[in-house]
Amino acid sequence: MLVLVINSGSSSLKYQVRDVAAGSVLTEGLIEKIGMGNGGDGDGEIEGPRDHAEALEQVDAAIHQELGDLELAAVGHRVVHGGERFAEPVLIDNEITRAIERLNPLAPLHNPANVLGIRAITKKWPDMPQVAVFDTAFHRTLPEHAWRYAVPDELYTNHGIRRYGFHGTSHEYVTRRAAALLDLRVEEFDGVIAHLGNGASVTAIRGGHSVDTSMGFTPLEGLVMGTRSGDLDPSILVFLGRAGWTPEDIDTMLNRESGLKGLAGNNDMRSVVEASEAGDAKAATALGVTSYRLAKYIGGYHVAVGGAKALVFTAGIGENSHQFRALVAEKLGALGIELDAGLNAERSKEPRVISTPQSAIPVLVVPTDEERAIAEATAAVVGSGPAR
Ligand code: AMP
Repeated sequence: MLVLVINSGSSSLKYQVRDVAAGSVLTEGLIEKIGMGNGGDGDGEIEGPRDHAEALEQVDAAIHQELGDLELAAVGHRVVHGGERFAEPVLIDNEITRAIERLNPLAPLHNPANVLGIRAITKKWPDMPQVAVFDTAFHRTLPEHAWRYAVPDELYTNHGIRRYGFHGTSHEYVTRRAAALLDLRVEEFDGVIAHLGNGASVTAIRGGHSVDTSMGFTPLEGLVMGTRSGDLDPSILVFLGRAGWTPEDIDTMLNRESGLKGLAGNNDMRSVVEASEAGDAKAATALGVTSYRLAKYIGGYHVAVGGAKALVFTAGIGENSHQFRALVAEKLGALGIELDAGLNAERSKEPRVISTPQSAIPVLVVPTDEERAIAEATAAVVGSGPAR
């Protein structure tokens, strides 16, 4: 079964054609600068497509040029926000599209773009089955004590202000692979998954389900990230507001100018590690703050899951930065965690154990693959969905 996976942003459209049975990628690409016509931002710049429909024409042409004639069985969309309604991937129809659209206020940068991608496909291929795979869905199992903010009830009931969690597709996929690596059924897996990319979140898994996660109402809460602050005292925002900062100023500062970039001047973990090793004090501070924050969450989630059976690292930093993994692990001595320096430093694309046999719990590196997870979920929904 061939599935086209679409990750539609406001000005970009990322795609992959996947053979689900083989687990392989047949072709992939990225269309950028959608809606940024008029010569782009420089002389000789190629004009971007006018809108998502035109971008889809480019995707279609690129796929056919690469692969010739082929029969797509379905399209799987990464949809950022599924609100309280969506706990599973769903087959898209007009009502579902409108339901995703109604969630726009909760994810103003992402859901409108996801809907544009869905509508572009509906217009071009009206009979193509489409499936929405939500970033929030895996966290619908959070117990109320984990998703509630201690603010007046009205904020939740009237405005939907609660913790939703994100990166769910990755956390779920990595949970399944980690359980398999440990020879456990997924229902037997209690552990902590650290998804550390440019955006980063950590999830507490009990019995294969998410019971807590560090991102909240938006992907800003929790860990220190590439350009996002993660947790801070909300009074800081009040203080800045009183000092004349606009909501947009505060949003930009917290989402784009903070995190590693704010502390070390660079949002790329490789560069920050190199700078720290070369003696840069700001880079060392950034690594200290980032690894300490994560270690605190891991300790808390060890409690939340009733004793983790494993700690798992994934995504760009989690899979590749042995230095960062070591910094986190050295703060987890109280949990009896001990990395094997040799195994930790090994480079591999395979799921693997990097702790010593004496470590109280195994520490794993498990590569994530959100597109693969979306393609598999899409195939499963289409395979079991109503006849079309
Ligand atoms: P992602 O968002 O999952 O693509 O992850 C991006 C982050 O992973 C960036 O901070 C990169 O610096 C980091 N990263 C990617 N490759 C490596 C590597 N080989 N060593 C250290 N960090 C890496």
